[in-house]
Amino acid sequence: MKYNISFNIRIIMAPQQTRQQRTSKSKVGIWKPKSGFEPIQEDDDVGSLPFDDDSLYTPDRSQICFWYVPMSDSLKNYGQEKMRENWGIHMDVKCFEKKAQTRPILYKRRYFHLVFMHEYLHHIVDSWAFDAEFEPDYRLEMKYSIERDESRPFKLEETLANANFLFYVNDEHVLDARNWSKENLIFGGSYKLWNCLTHDEDGYIIGNLWVGVSNHVAFQISTKNLHAGPTRHKGWDEKTIKQLKTVHPNLPANEYFTPEEGFKQYGKYAIDKIPFHLHNQANSKSIKEYKCWRESLVDEDWIRDTWGNINSEAK
Ligand SMILES: [Zn+2]
Repeated sequence: MKYNISFNIRIIMAPQQTRQQRTSKSKVGIWKPKSGFEPIQEDDDVGSLPFDDDSLYTPDRSQICFWYVPMSDSLKNYGQEKMRENWGIHMDVKCFEKKAQTRPILYKRRYFHLVFMHEYLHHIVDSWAFDAEFEPDYRLEMKYSIERDESRPFKLEETLANANFLFYVNDEHVLDARNWSKENLIFGGSYKLWNCLTHDEDGYIIGNLWVGVSNHVAFQISTKNLHAGPTRHKGWDEKTIKQLKTVHPNLPANEYFTPEEGFKQYGKYAIDKIPFHLHNQANSKSIKEYKCWRESLVDEDWIRDTWGNINSEAK
């Protein structure tokens, strides 16, 4: 997992944008690091146990295998379609292999799917924020405010991100997928709370909690304040996160988020249209960009039947 930008999960077939929809709103900017700034990254470390269950800490750099780089570095550039050169989802191959090397291929596929869809949620949030015309600096500042805060407040975008994969799982496998993830992917803090958003009986995401947590995340971004609203400085727990059902009707709505539905299942770029960068080690220069490598790792038994349609439509 990571701690910079954010994401989530769902169970419904993701309505895909048509090519026309995708191209008609191409006012994206790129997220260029300013001097002294690190690119925004996500801490999507799942396999190991980088912190105790009750810890508020986010994993350190060496434990980050996947991260997302936002599309643009400013609204102005976004509007001019100046995308950040390295925007997209990044994967440290060695990091991933190290965590999964002793595991069967099924484990690797599921692990990969979970984390990839985690990063995809960050893209959905990124898409919403750009289209809602929030400067990416807002989110960058929030990231640093988290790191500076000794209480290490939870970033609930990570909670959404870890639940996001469930939206892309075939109905008959939702409970299995949810339980597998709960058992095999050990998170701390906001990364662990995702399972509070699911039903024990069927594994599905609890709709009004998805909406409530989505609203809270969007509210924080819109106010440029991580401590906005009922944010708990000491972190969230199962009880308090389940009280997050507030809808903020004035939050800007677009095709990636509405106050009534929360974050949706797709971002500006379809799952297979997002640049996918592979690294030999964390933060090294990207060594290769794959378009569809993800597909080879996906456990097809889990993925929604429409997944294939998504792929073909996105090309
Ligand atoms: Zn993340």
